[in-house]
Parts: sequence; C-alpha cells; structure tokens
Amino acid sequence: MVSATIDTSALRHNLNVVRQWAPKSRVMAVIKANAYGHGLVAVARALESTDAFAVARVDEGLALRSAGVDTPTVLLEGVFDRDQLDAAAAANFELVVHTSEQIELLRTAAAGVRFKVWLKLDSGMNRLGFKGTAFGAAHAALSALESVRSPVNLFTHLASADLPELPSTAEQLALFAATAGALPGERSLENSAAMLSFPDAQADWVRPGLLLYGVSPFAGSIGADYGLRPVMTLHSHVIAVKELSPGEKVGYGGDWTAIRPTRLAVAAVGYGDGYPRSLASGAPVMVNGERAGLAGRVSMDMIGIDVTHLRRPPALGDSVVLWGEGLPVEEIAVWADTIPYELLCGISQRVAVTYDSGH
Ligand SMILES: *Cc1c(COP(=O)(O)O)cnc(C)c1O
Repeated sequence: MVSATIDTSALRHNLNVVRQWAPKSRVMAVIKANAYGHGLVAVARALESTDAFAVARVDEGLALRSAGVDTPTVLLEGVFDRDQLDAAAAANFELVVHTSEQIELLRTAAAGVRFKVWLKLDSGMNRLGFKGTAFGAAHAALSALESVRSPVNLFTHLASADLPELPSTAEQLALFAATAGALPGERSLENSAAMLSFPDAQADWVRPGLLLYGVSPFAGSIGADYGLRPVMTLHSHVIAVKELSPGEKVGYGGDWTAIRPTRLAVAAVGYGDGYPRSLASGAPVMVNGERAGLAGRVSMDMIGIDVTHLRRPPALGDSVVLWGEGLPVEEIAVWADTIPYELLCGISQRVAVTYDSGH
C-alpha cells in the first residue's frame, strides 16, 4: 500500500550540483544505511559517475560488489576482525583506520595485500579517530606496514558544520591543518553541511550524503533552496472517507476532536511503515496534491487527515503524499522533532520501493 518512489534522475542532478559546489574535489558519495533508505544498489547504479562510494559496514560494501559495482569504496569505520580484513582485501575496499587495534590487524594481512587507507584524526568530535601525539605515532606505524599503500591518506569528521556560527568547526579545521601539516596523501574532511559552509576545506575529497538525496543539512532551509531535487517521495492512498459531527474524536486516545462538521480521510500508512508516531495533529499531509493536516495519533497502519477544506473531496484510492515531491521531508522532520536523515533511513521493510527516473 505504501510506496517510496525514488527519482534516479534527481540523484544524478544532485550529484552534478555537488560537483559544481566542489569543482576541485573528488566526490565520495555516502550511501551507508541502504543509501539513507533509498536502496543501496539502485542508488549506486544511478550515481555510477561518482569518484568513490562510502559505506559504514563491510556488508554494505560487499552488497555493492555482489551487484557488480566495482567503484572504489571506503569503509568509514574500517574493519574489526580478520574475516572482515580478508573480505575487504578481496573486495578492494579502502579502509578508514581509527584505532591501534586496526593497525595491528593490518599487520596480520596476507602477503601481497595492499590497502588504500585513510588515517582518521579525532579533531574534536570525540567519536572515531586518533588524538594528539597518538595520531603521529599511528601515522608512522601505518606508513611502515607492507599491507598499506603509500602514502597514508588523511581524514577527519566535523561535529557541528550545520551550525557554522559556532567556533568549533574552525577549531577542528585548524587542528586538522596543523596535524596534517606537510604530510603527503589525500585529505578528506567534509560532509554535506561542511562542504557548503566551509568551502575552503573541501580538499581532495568531499563526502556528501544528504545533499545527494536532495535534502538540506541546515535547519530552516530545504534542498530546493540549493537547487537540489528531492529523491524519495513516500506515498499511500485513501482507504476510507467519513463525515464527523462537532465533538467527535479521532484515533487512539481520542486525541483530536472535530470542532466543526469535518470530512476525515483515512490513509493506509503508519509507524509500521516508518511514518513517525511523534507527529502531532496538524502536521502537513498532501492529498491529491493539496495540503491537509494530520488529525489524531499516527497508528501502526493508518492515519486520519482533516480534508474538510479541500477543493476536491477525496475518494477511495486517491493519492496521499507523506513527504517528498511537493512536501519537503525537512518540514516533516521539524513536525516530528527529528532530522530528515532519520525519516529517510527509517522507512520500513513493508514499504515498496520503486525506481522512476521521474522528469
Ligand atoms: C555519514 C557521513 C558522511 C555524510 O554525511 P551527510 O551529512 O549526509 O553529508 C560523511 N562523512 C562521514 C564520516 C559520515 O559518517
């Protein structure tokens, strides 16, 4: 009943927009978490003109290789045991290295194996990476390994690039610049928000995720403000229409009360599809291309929509759009008190994903 339409021409368009913003950099297209819910392999095929892909997990990379995608692929968290190391070698993955255990693991690699590695500096996010003098020691240790292709490449991640008014990004960038110094190797620092807010640090490789899916990384704006096109549109259909009298209540807990004669449409979508239960009444929903408001709590499989004011009364089977084309996911994220990333990644297995080159 619920489907997510993926506009692959919008994906390609967004990659071109990213290239215009970072004309001197190569693009590592981030397609972890099933390409932010859009479908790993289909997105990889649509973005085949990228310079590299980045994924979080070994299995994600292996799924690309099984599908015949042989574009360079970076494992953003690296590998954690010998099986993963061997699989990564066979699949020719590039590795982010962020712990001394990973350096020790690389020491055990089979003869003849040579990885391209990205040594990660923890420049202040305090998630992954080496800090301070440990970075220099890690760099020396990696550089001496036979299983590591020379030179070691340099990597960091910025914690607050979506809030450019904070001083912390400039501090992280300065620490990276001071640490990397004149070391050889390629450099990669910037995700979607960072490549827009701090273009001077786009360096050799930018790492956009969200922008490719047509979504703004900044609160208060939408992808279209940057010339991007939304890629995912989440749809369902009207499965019932009813007329309510003033005082009648809708849904679990009777949370929403009709204050006037009300026409209510029931659509077949709910938190079982990944449509967030945290959405409050009044959240926008598009019915036949017109905006209406959610009425009552989101159920597992259904929602109520106040369609009283619509010019065309909805009929059974009519189209309901939850987010995407005409209804920015950024806006729904604000209503749901979350971020667009979580909504996109969170569509459930029940949702039928279809690919359509759209325009
Ligand atoms: C997820 C991720 C990105 C992409 O982030 P966006 O905000 O979606 O552009 C870039 N770099 C790293 C290390 C990541 O984990």
